[in-house]
Amino acid sequence: MNFEEIIKEVYEKKKLISDEGQLADYIPELKLVDPDKFGVYISTLHYGHFGIGDCYDRFSAQSIAKVFSLTLAYSILDSKTWERVGVEPSGTSFNSLIQLELEHGIPRNPFINAGAIVICDILLSHLDNPKEDFLAFVRSLSGHGEINYSDKIASSEKKAGYRNVALCNLIKAFGNIENDPVDVLDFYFDLCSLEMNCEELSKIFLFLANDGFTLHDQRQILTRSQTKRINALMQTCGFYDESGEFAFKVGLPGKSGVGGGIVAIHPKQYAIAVWGPRLNAKGNSYKGMRFLEEFTTRSEQSIF
Ligand code: GLN
Repeated sequence: MNFEEIIKEVYEKKKLISDEGQLADYIPELKLVDPDKFGVYISTLHYGHFGIGDCYDRFSAQSIAKVFSLTLAYSILDSKTWERVGVEPSGTSFNSLIQLELEHGIPRNPFINAGAIVICDILLSHLDNPKEDFLAFVRSLSGHGEINYSDKIASSEKKAGYRNVALCNLIKAFGNIENDPVDVLDFYFDLCSLEMNCEELSKIFLFLANDGFTLHDQRQILTRSQTKRINALMQTCGFYDESGEFAFKVGLPGKSGVGGGIVAIHPKQYAIAVWGPRLNAKGNSYKGMRFLEEFTTRSEQSIF
């Protein structure tokens, strides 16, 4: 399988397209990112790894980090996780409040903001030092200790995150938040501020392509069954109200973030991370989506 050649060709082609996306401007600090950055990195189980473009520049992981928080919560609570958050696509935008009122504070899934906030609440209740312990967990997935939160991004979002404050308070009113909403939100904004590059992201996500085992130290993070379920959730909910389109055009489980990153995995094959900061109307990387669509078409490597 010659991933390298296909990635090079698709990268050069997509680099030239006119990017119709916009930077996420509701988090002021994200507006300062160079909108033309574009990087790709693939880590495979059997064919090595390869990166191109700005794949070593760190950027704001944002909602991609929700996969790590869900993984940690799921490894602690197992199926009890689903008493607090559902497993259905929402069909609404990532920060929507509408369903929460109708569904009594049980978020549709762990990848919309409401669901990720409940997952943060679970972690606050179960970790001694949530911020430090969560970072240590992410670092252990990556195999090295350089990954960090960005204080700048976190404080920028803390000042402007009104919708998330509303979501957390509404869930609390329904009794599905145990801790003080101030602490839950503080942790949520910190986890969204994690900074990583495409190489690090693709390496971290490899355990989801490898039956729950890290590649660098063969540690079991989740059971096989739990791993399949995280992948099923990424497939059905990873791109919010564009999850159907991502399955339709790309055909891989994946997760996006408003920092412009997308990571997708092919079970037993690879994890690929793409970064292009301009977002489409659904809050997903415009170039990232286009790149992955052509990559899976050319490599004939979608899961379907
Ligand atoms: N921190 C962002 C928010 O809460 C994450 C959203 C995203 O990446 N889709 O709005």
